[in-house]
Amino acid sequence: MNTPLKYIKGVGPQLASVFQNKSIDTVGDLLYFLPRTYQDNRRIKTLEELQIGKPSIFIADVVKKSIIPLKSKRRKMYIIVVSDGTSSIVCKFFRIPYKDWFNSVRISEQVEVRGTPSLYQGKLEFNHPQIFAAKQAETEVEVENQNLLLPIYTEIEGVSQYKLRQIIKTAFEDLQNNKTAAEWLPEWLRKKYQLPTNFESLRDMHFPKQEWRDLYFEFKAPCQQRIIFDEFFESQFYFMLKKQDWLKETASKIPCDKNILKELEKQLPFKLTSAQNKVLKDIITNLQSNRPMHRLLQGDVGCGKTVVAFMAAAVCAKAGYQTAIMVPTEILADQHYNNAKKFLEPFGLKVEKLTGKMKAKEKRTVNAVLDSGFCHLCIGTHALIQEDVQFHKLGLVIIDEQHRFGAHQRALLKKKGEQAHFLVMTATPIPRTLSMALYGDLEISIIDELPANRIPIVTRRVFQDKRLEVFNFLRDQVLKGRQAYVVYPLIEESETLDLKNAMDQYEKLKSYYKELKWGLLTGRMSSEEKQSVMKQFLDNKINALISTTVIEVGVDVPNANVMVVEHAERFGLLQMHQLRGRVGRGSDKSYCMFVLGKNFSPEAKERTYIMEKNSNGFEIAEKDLELRGPGEFLGTRQSGVPAFKTGNIIRDSAILSVAKKASYDLWSKDPELKELEHMPARLKFEHLSSAFKPG
Ligand code: ADP
Ligand code: MG
Repeated sequence: MNTPLKYIKGVGPQLASVFQNKSIDTVGDLLYFLPRTYQDNRRIKTLEELQIGKPSIFIADVVKKSIIPLKSKRRKMYIIVVSDGTSSIVCKFFRIPYKDWFNSVRISEQVEVRGTPSLYQGKLEFNHPQIFAAKQAETEVEVENQNLLLPIYTEIEGVSQYKLRQIIKTAFEDLQNNKTAAEWLPEWLRKKYQLPTNFESLRDMHFPKQEWRDLYFEFKAPCQQRIIFDEFFESQFYFMLKKQDWLKETASKIPCDKNILKELEKQLPFKLTSAQNKVLKDIITNLQSNRPMHRLLQGDVGCGKTVVAFMAAAVCAKAGYQTAIMVPTEILADQHYNNAKKFLEPFGLKVEKLTGKMKAKEKRTVNAVLDSGFCHLCIGTHALIQEDVQFHKLGLVIIDEQHRFGAHQRALLKKKGEQAHFLVMTATPIPRTLSMALYGDLEISIIDELPANRIPIVTRRVFQDKRLEVFNFLRDQVLKGRQAYVVYPLIEESETLDLKNAMDQYEKLKSYYKELKWGLLTGRMSSEEKQSVMKQFLDNKINALISTTVIEVGVDVPNANVMVVEHAERFGLLQMHQLRGRVGRGSDKSYCMFVLGKNFSPEAKERTYIMEKNSNGFEIAEKDLELRGPGEFLGTRQSGVPAFKTGNIIRDSAILSVAKKASYDLWSKDPELKELEHMPARLKFEHLSSAFKPG
C-alpha cells in the first residue's frame, strides 16, 4: 500500500506527478480514491419503463426533428423525438453540444439515449439527454462501457476514466497476494459486526458487483458500509478517547447551597418548567463532583436557557467560584448583563461585562476586578478569550449560542480555568443523530418544553400583493401597545441584488406610518448606538424595530409580538425559526409573517410552507437536514464539524450507532491498544491520542 505510484505498471513519472497534484502518491492513496458514483448501463427494453427522475438508457429511432424560436429572439429550442415502436418521447435542448451536432442527427437513425426523464405538462420528456449513434462496440473503451455497472471517478485532468480504471486494476492485481493490506480492524470486531475486510471492501468499491447493483446507489452495498464505518469509527473513537482524557482531569468540587436556588426562584415572575429544573439538577450534580462537567444544553428558542445558566452561576458564586459566560454578539452581552444584574445583584453577587468595543481603560478595570476575584459573574464576547484576561478562581465556563463559535474559541475559554466546569448552550435544534456525530464527547441535556404560558405563534407566508396588509396589521398591533420586528436580508442597497434593505425601508416606513415610533438596528452601528436602540426598544420607546439578522440570536423582548421577515426567500429554515423565536415570548398571541419577494424559487416557497406548518425546532431541523444535507445545514460558520467523505450522518445513521458501539468495544478491551492484534489500529489512530504515540 505504501508503494509509490510510479512503480505501478502503466504509470510513469509523468503520470505519477499528475496524480501527485491530487495528493495521490501511493498505491494506498489510489485505492482510497473511491468512485464518486456508478454508472448503471442496464438498458431498458421499452420506453414504457421510463419513470420520472430515474436515469435510463435505451435504444430508439429518431422520428422527428424541429427547431423552435424562443421568446428572447436569439435563443432556440432544439427538439428531437425518438421512438422505439411502443411509444415516443421528446428530447429538448436549449443549447447543443456543438454547432453541427443537431444537423448530424438523422431521421430514422438508430440512437442510444442516456438521460433522466422529467415531467412537463403531464408528459415525460428529456432535457439535454446524451444522444449517440448506436453502433457495435469496437474499441476497448466502448467494450468496457458496456459493463453493466461502471465506477465513475472524480475527473483527474489528463487521465481518462478508462485509463484510471486500468491503473486501479493493475494495482489490485499486485495486491492479490497481500489481502490483509491496510486492515486495521481486528478480526474479532470485524466478525462481531459482520463487516467485510478492508481488501474486500476496496475491491468491491472499484469493481462493483452486479448483484448489488441497486445497493450501490443507496450506499447500502457491504463495501460502502465498511468504508463509512471506518470514517465514523474514527470520529467516535476520538470522542471516546477525549472523554476518557476528561475523566482523568479533576475539577473543583462546587457545593450547592440549596437556599440560594430557592431564594432566586422566589424572585422569578414565573415557575421554572420541569425541563428547566431537570437540567439545573444535571448541572448541579456535575458541579458537585470533582470530574469536570462537559455538557451541551440544547433547547429550542425561548425555552429559557438563560435563567438556568444564571442560577448555576449563583451556585458557583455562593461557593466562592467565578463564572464566565461567552456570547456571540454585543447586543446579547448587554442583554444578559442587564438581566443578570437585575436578577443576581440583590443577592450580593457582582456582575461584570467585557466586550471588544469597550474602551481600553474600562477593559483594564474589568480585568483587574476579575483577577482579584471581586466579581462573580462576567458576561462577555470574544473579548473574554484575550490573553490578558485572568480569573481569580474560575469554576464554571458557559458558552451561549455555542454554534456561533469555533472549537478553538471554545477551547481557549475553557483554558482560562484549570479546574473549571464546562457548559455549552445552543438553540440550534440538532437532531439526535447529528448531535451524536458532532458532540459525541459531550453529555447532552435537552430542554424539550416551552414555558406553559406560551401561546402558539400564528405563522403566515405572504405574497407581494398582500404586503400592505401585513404592515397595516403591524400598525394595529402597535397601537394596541405591542411591539414588532421587521427583518431585511440587507443593511443597505446592493449593486448586485435587487432587494429591499433595512436602511431604505426604515425611511419609507417612518414616513408612511407616522403614528409609529420606528427604530433601526444593524450590525454596522457602533456599540453605543446599538445599546441605546435596544434599550429604547426594551422600554417600548421604539415600537417597531427594523433590523437585519443581528437580532437572530438570543434577543429577548417579551412585549414584542409581531415579526415580519421580508424577502423570506433569502432565509434558510433554521434562520427563519430563530427569527420567529424572537416573538411568542410573552403571554399574548404572537404573529410571524414571512413575506416573499417578487422572485422566489419553488424551494423557497416550500420553506415558508414548512414554517407555516411546523413550530417545533427539532422537526424543522430534521426537514432542513433532509432538504440540504448535513454540510450545508451546519453552515460554514460551524467549525469543528467532522467532514466525512463518503458517510452521511443522516442516511447512514444506523452505521453511526454501530461505529459508536464498536469504538466502545475496542476501547474497553484494550484502552491503550497494546495487544498485538490491535497494532494496526494503534498505527491508524496514532494521531488521535498521545497515548498511542510510539515511545
Ligand atoms: P432561550 O432559551 O432562547 O435563550 P431565554 O432564556 O431568552 O430563552 O428565555 C426566553 C424568555 O422566557 C425570557 O423572557 C425568560 O424570562 C422567559 N422564561 C424563562 N423561563 C420561563 C418559565 N419557566 N416560564 C415563563 N417564562 C420563562
Ligand atoms: Mg438564549
